[in-house]
Amino acid sequence: MKNPSDTSADADPQWDAGQVDPDDSEHGFLLALDMNGSSSTSPGQKPYRRHRTKPTPAEPGSSKSSSAWFSWSKLAFAAALVAVASLVIITAVSMGGSSQSERTTALPESLDFLQANSSQGLRLSSSVIPRHYDLEVTPDLETLGFHGTVDIALLITEPTYHIRFHALDLNLSNIYLAQGSTRLLPTRVVEDPPTQTFVLLFGTIVGVGDYRLSIDFDGVMGDGEPAGFYRSSYMDGSGQKHYLAITHFEPVFARMAFPCFDEPALKASFKITVCSALTALSNMPLNKTEPVGASGMSRYVFQKTPPQSTYLAAWGVSDYSRVEARTSSGIPVGVYAPSESINLTSFALDVATRSMEFFQKLYNYTLPVPKMDHFPVPDFTSEGMENWGLITYEDSLLLINRSSAPAQDLQASAMLIAHEIAHQWFGDLVTMAWWDDLWLNEGFAEFMQYKSVAALHPDWDLLSQFFVYEHLLAFEADESMFTHPIYLPVADPLLLPMLFDDVTYNKGASVIRMLEDWLESADGGHLSCGQFCRGLRQYLVQYAESTAQTANLWHALDAVGPEAHKGIVNDTMSGWISNPGFPVVLVSAQNGFVRLTQFRYTLWKDTNATEISSSWQIPVSYRILMDPHSSPTHATPAKTVLMNGHTTIMTPAPRNSLVLINRDRVGFYRVMFDSIDYYKQLSHWLKSSPSLFSPADRAGFLSDIWALATSNRLGLQLAMDITTFVAKDRDPTVWRTCISVFKQMDRLVGAHPFIEAWNQYKSSLVGPVAAEIGWGAFAATKSRSGSKPIPAHALSLLRSALIPYAITLGIPRVVSTGLELFDELLTGNLHDAPDEILPWIYSTAVMHSSNLTEAYYILWHLRESLPGDTVSPLAQTPLQALQNQTIKIIESGELRPQMIVPMLSSLAGAKHGASVVWSFFLSHADQFLSVSSNSASQAVEKCVSLLESAQQIRQAQDLVGGPDGWMDAEPGESGSRTGIRRGLERLVHSSKFKSVVLKGFKAHPE
Ligand SMILES: [Zn+2]
Repeated sequence: MKNPSDTSADADPQWDAGQVDPDDSEHGFLLALDMNGSSSTSPGQKPYRRHRTKPTPAEPGSSKSSSAWFSWSKLAFAAALVAVASLVIITAVSMGGSSQSERTTALPESLDFLQANSSQGLRLSSSVIPRHYDLEVTPDLETLGFHGTVDIALLITEPTYHIRFHALDLNLSNIYLAQGSTRLLPTRVVEDPPTQTFVLLFGTIVGVGDYRLSIDFDGVMGDGEPAGFYRSSYMDGSGQKHYLAITHFEPVFARMAFPCFDEPALKASFKITVCSALTALSNMPLNKTEPVGASGMSRYVFQKTPPQSTYLAAWGVSDYSRVEARTSSGIPVGVYAPSESINLTSFALDVATRSMEFFQKLYNYTLPVPKMDHFPVPDFTSEGMENWGLITYEDSLLLINRSSAPAQDLQASAMLIAHEIAHQWFGDLVTMAWWDDLWLNEGFAEFMQYKSVAALHPDWDLLSQFFVYEHLLAFEADESMFTHPIYLPVADPLLLPMLFDDVTYNKGASVIRMLEDWLESADGGHLSCGQFCRGLRQYLVQYAESTAQTANLWHALDAVGPEAHKGIVNDTMSGWISNPGFPVVLVSAQNGFVRLTQFRYTLWKDTNATEISSSWQIPVSYRILMDPHSSPTHATPAKTVLMNGHTTIMTPAPRNSLVLINRDRVGFYRVMFDSIDYYKQLSHWLKSSPSLFSPADRAGFLSDIWALATSNRLGLQLAMDITTFVAKDRDPTVWRTCISVFKQMDRLVGAHPFIEAWNQYKSSLVGPVAAEIGWGAFAATKSRSGSKPIPAHALSLLRSALIPYAITLGIPRVVSTGLELFDELLTGNLHDAPDEILPWIYSTAVMHSSNLTEAYYILWHLRESLPGDTVSPLAQTPLQALQNQTIKIIESGELRPQMIVPMLSSLAGAKHGASVVWSFFLSHADQFLSVSSNSASQAVEKCVSLLESAQQIRQAQDLVGGPDGWMDAEPGESGSRTGIRRGLERLVHSSKFKSVVLKGFKAHPE
């Protein structure tokens, strides 16, 4: 699955709020009710209470979004919070049916064993093993109901009186266990809401052997709620609504669609059948279709899947059209779309086909799933989901106009597709044994998306951008005292949503990239398949169609390495995944040697305090840079040395050389030098010979220098002086990093008197470059004569980094162009403006128009007639009255659910906007302050970190333990409570920064 806050089109490494997911507040948790009588239920007499009420089909723009602020994860959390830790209750089932076993062993008198399981955070029995599911589902897209039958082949390896399986919000009937022609009916069916399971109790012992468990079930589809089997819809150009239905099961939602053994290690084959008047699809190719009587429906019978985890099963129905291509080895790749959007499929089809070929070659393993479909879903709130053979996406991320889309959107779409395809092997073919290893699944796919798309589009320079979209997000998540280790044991599956965060994805990807670079370079970097690649292939062969743990991968990588270094991968990586935080490598030059030591990075270091020493095993890559003016050779070849505690590197140390540590920023650590002279020379070379350094090197220096300055380890003036090299830099990665550190400084400086000098400093750097690259050819901006042409893709990236920030800063030339374009839009003189610049035009109007109120209401009232999204920019208004109006719009329920958290995040960043947003959070505490959603918790953190009123800060403290207790995090608490703590931590940081670093600071613009 792809986390919404990663590399989305507008990712802001500091404060990307991602998207919000739909509500599931309606979920109650089922209490077993009457299952009176026999397992044959008379029509109309439902054996179990329905848990969702069927809503009448809602009109677009109805008030559904007022209840749609929750993350999907609230669904799971609600279970933990709402359900009492006791079993709810038990219903007797008569022993009706002539096939009842005649064995008479008594029922266990006590049900305590169920209670014990329940309180332990249940794992299913290891002696009841599902082997195969025969599953048939018939949805009704008008009423939202669905009916199904499932027949599960089980192997029972120990005699038992009971069988436990997962089911949530389903009405079950006709339950029996069969062995051959003998049917065994349960004497009782017990529901255990805290674990979302049912237990079948048998009046006689069930012996070892093969059985079939048969269950009929009825459920109600969620409407636009991406969990279980749910309905979605799209509107065509003529305003007609089209329904579709699709599944989303990760991590624990398969149980909402059919009774199952819903744990990743319990892999089984599936034979899926779907009855519908629409076209059905599933993990596997179609086997056959046949009409269902005169109903107008067809039965779509799909081929049997290879063994797969329940969370990867998938099916759907729609009236979409499909385009298809084939890989060089003949695997069909399909992309679905509404027929009138079929022209938007070519980019996805191309990327998907070539990514399949890339991974097929890299992994060297032919998937047992013989086709790969890509299916867009409106209102899907994860960006993508890697169902085996049937990948689902948020529609706008899959269907994209390749000729007009901004570079940022194109590469985000390509990387998302590559991410999900990478999972087809790493995640689907070999699956984590338990959710503890989710980080490996996700971190690996997150890393591999860059490898694949970098190979497809080498001109995009994605491996440099890795620093911005992975390292910066991971540093930010991991520098807090409230971070967690990558590997976090989670016994209770209902707490899983906490794991889908930036540590799991971005830090996970960062440490895997470091490992890959180290192992591949260990072979001299000359082999097309080095130690990492060979070990990976071995791992896939060894665990194909099965499950594995993280250590299994380390062992596979070790096994193909040099005999003398056996175990080194495992030893090195276990420190990275089991310790929170990350190191700073401190570099000291001593008599021709370079000495490296390390300490753990913290947001703040008190003056004269001792650093926290650390002992990560760090593969340190380095080069020696020669004086470009006196040496024909600019740098020595790159080397990597494994640093354990401290390491001394022998260097030739010629005069005027510099050691460059963390080459191309392949390692997940920061670098500090203990010599001001080093920084001065570095600054000189960055300005005089920038090509000595790769874009990632330059971005890394910039980021490190500011992290050290803002944490009181390096002088602020020095950081400001070195940063002036960006004036001549036109690399998008360097500039995106620069703006990221500027934004962080903006928050730290706040309303301190230094703000004036700070704004002038930033404007002096951002202004000329933003004015030079301008709004694009569309706005007839002329490039400064003599400047080197920038490739179109990089220019688009650079523009998308610079222009929005230049608007915020009020750079005159940028603002005046934006206001002119706004006037032209309103007067109808601006036609076919690129999608990329529309939000910038609206932001300029909201922030800089001569009549801010008028501009605000124009955007609101003309939201249907103006092109693009005119509503999101409303959150940038600096006027408090209009900020309150924005809150009313959010509360009105008129917005798409995905818009709400990003708008709140944006509003919190506007002038004094945090106060308004905090009041809103308080009045909707259930939806925002006790949820596990990563995007919501990031918005809460941002809001709290920008609070200015003592009263509001105290309110935030009181929610998490008060002024003396907020630093004591509670295990397993919700993500948004951690967000409050992290926001308070950043407030403390800002206060220290002002009182220590800015005290008496005399920085003035040159
Ligand atoms: Zn993923």
